[in-house]
Amino acid sequence: MHVKRLAAAGLLTLISTLLSLPGQATLAAADGPITATVTKVENKFPREVVFSAAAASTAGDVRSVRFRMTTGRGLVERGDNFEITPGRRITADFALRTAGDRFIPAGSVFTYWVEVQDAAGNTFNSEKQQFWYADTRFQWSKLQDGPITVYYYGNGATDAGNVLTSAKVVQAEVGQMLGVPGNEFTVMMYGSSAGRADVIGAQREESSATRAQELIRMGVAYSAEDVVQVQRGGGSLGTQDTARHEIAHLYVNWAAGSGVPTWLNEGLAVWAQATPGREYLDRLDQSIRRDNLLLVRGMESFPGDSDETLLAYGQSWSLVNHLIDKHGKEKFRQLMTSINQVGSEGALKQVYGFASYDDFDAKWREAVGAKPRSYASARPTPIPVFGDGGGVQTNTNAPAGAGSGSGAATNPYGQFPVLPVAGAALAVIIVIAIVAFTRGKKPASG
Ligand SMILES: [Zn+2]
Repeated sequence: MHVKRLAAAGLLTLISTLLSLPGQATLAAADGPITATVTKVENKFPREVVFSAAAASTAGDVRSVRFRMTTGRGLVERGDNFEITPGRRITADFALRTAGDRFIPAGSVFTYWVEVQDAAGNTFNSEKQQFWYADTRFQWSKLQDGPITVYYYGNGATDAGNVLTSAKVVQAEVGQMLGVPGNEFTVMMYGSSAGRADVIGAQREESSATRAQELIRMGVAYSAEDVVQVQRGGGSLGTQDTARHEIAHLYVNWAAGSGVPTWLNEGLAVWAQATPGREYLDRLDQSIRRDNLLLVRGMESFPGDSDETLLAYGQSWSLVNHLIDKHGKEKFRQLMTSINQVGSEGALKQVYGFASYDDFDAKWREAVGAKPRSYASARPTPIPVFGDGGGVQTNTNAPAGAGSGSGAATNPYGQFPVLPVAGAALAVIIVIAIVAFTRGKKPASG
């Protein structure tokens, strides 16, 4: 572990001038008629990042310069053309939008390059370079241990150290179990200024201005960028369990892709916490006693009602806990890694030998002491579908505070309980996972 100072405070923009290495320039010139490099990157958080490029060809006019980039593991590529006037030597700027429907979370590492074509039909790709997209409102420091990096600012060093420890626990317990412990990711830990959660300005703007003002997410996992945002100290889950929960969502996506049913995704994320928390456990116990548990096959996504959401999270944790406790970690890994091929019910049959979702449901009920139920005419709780339009494949949250009911009453999504930010004292934790937050070209696996 080491600590490193990063950007200077108070900068409106972070400008890094990136020079291509002399060796690369020589190699490029020797290889063909085109030379090209990105000469400057200017971070205009949160709106855009401006890339300046220079390109030349000895064989004909430079006809097109295309900006190309990936984030995280590189599964999602974004790109567009620079606007240029063709010529033997050109310079041009490309503004990569990072807000609105092109949102990219701060903390993402960009791997970028330019693709140049000249009039003689030659094509050239510049050397790949990397850029860390900072939230320039704060002076960030970082802690790093192997593949895990935690960024923080202000007096957050102790909490950040604990987040790094928590991240390593999830790496050991979930990453190891799912067979992807070495994957790199970044945790951005935010604090508060003047009673307002700093993470608000870093999250994706909602299409409605009112929504943007009303929503706060204590934790978000962006799996296309391998970035987790955590709001420090807020909510009843606490910083550490919020971080553990969101990091687990990254591992789920790495191991199983985007087709994971919500009960399995959220269940494992709650399982990864130090404790599921009283709200979930109490609600689960109550439903076992009152015999109004959810039908497991109806939990591919979660109910909109906040009270049912608490149950959905509690029951999901219990389902996952049961699978891991009774059948072991190796079978759980097999379950996760076979969902892409055979679907979740197929994987439950194949790995555990359950006859169906309902058979799994029945065996779990028996294990937790719930009464047997009839499945013949059982219908799942109606589930509203959250349509984001931006490629969000899973997007769920849970209130875990006593005041969650009032937050849910004004929920603009139907599915998401929300927190009115104005009343910081009402702090109700909302943990949201935006899994596989993909834009532009999607990974081949879909
Ligand atoms: Zn979650």
